[in-house]
Amino acid sequence: MRAFVIESGTPNVVVTKLEHKLGIRCSDTASISLDGTRVPFDHILGSPTVEKTTTGFKGAMATFDATRPLVAATGIGVARAALEEVKKMLAEQGVTIRYGLPRQKLTSIERDVIDMEIMVKSGWLMVLKAVWMADNKQSNALESSMSKVKAGDIVTKVTQKAVEIMGPLGYNRDSLLEKWFRDAKITDIYEGTGQINRLVVARQVLGYSGAELR
Ligand SMILES: Cc1cc2nc3c(=O)[nH]c(=O)nc-3n(C[C@H](O)[C@H](O)[C@H](O)COP(=O)(O)OP(=O)(O)OC[C@H]3O[C@@H](n4cnc5c(N)ncnc54)[C@H](O)[C@@H]3O)c2cc1C
Repeated sequence: MRAFVIESGTPNVVVTKLEHKLGIRCSDTASISLDGTRVPFDHILGSPTVEKTTTGFKGAMATFDATRPLVAATGIGVARAALEEVKKMLAEQGVTIRYGLPRQKLTSIERDVIDMEIMVKSGWLMVLKAVWMADNKQSNALESSMSKVKAGDIVTKVTQKAVEIMGPLGYNRDSLLEKWFRDAKITDIYEGTGQINRLVVARQVLGYSGAELR
């Protein structure tokens, strides 16, 4: 398994299917056929020599330690945008969040917004920890997968709650809340699904190999 770069327009590179998706619709997702495409040596990432055992797959897996927190960050960004939009829309209707009050004196909307803030902040802190470890050359497979699992859950819950709080205004196509609600779910799917990242976390915590815990 090898990573390589192919420029568009290279002979035999054909887009065979464009997906019609629930969310992230401003980014195309496509199947691409490379049947008979020539890959020049200097387009191969890493060493171009072919050996019996390559580190291509291991290298791809290791990349996830760096990229999962970034995907988590995009999810938390969407969640934060939805939270800020809800607060803005509520403020326009004269509703502000009374942070100093005991919980039992808050309205249910105020409690919901505060819970959304807790989720967004905690998810963001997990992302920061995972990327800080990577920056400092520390092994972060556990924190990387944890941040991705939490971000997938958080962005799904927060955007759903945002639509719910704003009712018809949130469900409307004129509203960005509706878009962010649709965009949220992919955070839990690509770069390893929630289930697979939970497996990675369990293996790390319990000390099992991939073969021992599937
Ligand atoms: C819009 C979109 C964009 C994408 N972009 C990219 C991209 O840019 N680059 C890229 O490399 N990939 C990309 N992907 C692929 C994505 O990473 C995979 O679809 C995803 O990891 C799930 O893998 P799969 O499709 O093989 O599903 P499957 O492995 O068939 O999984 C199906 C379901 O079964 C669950 N499952 C599978 N095995 C287990 C298990 N052992 N225990 C518990 N549950 C399990 C999964 O969690 C999932 O819910 C994209 C996918 C989508 C939908």
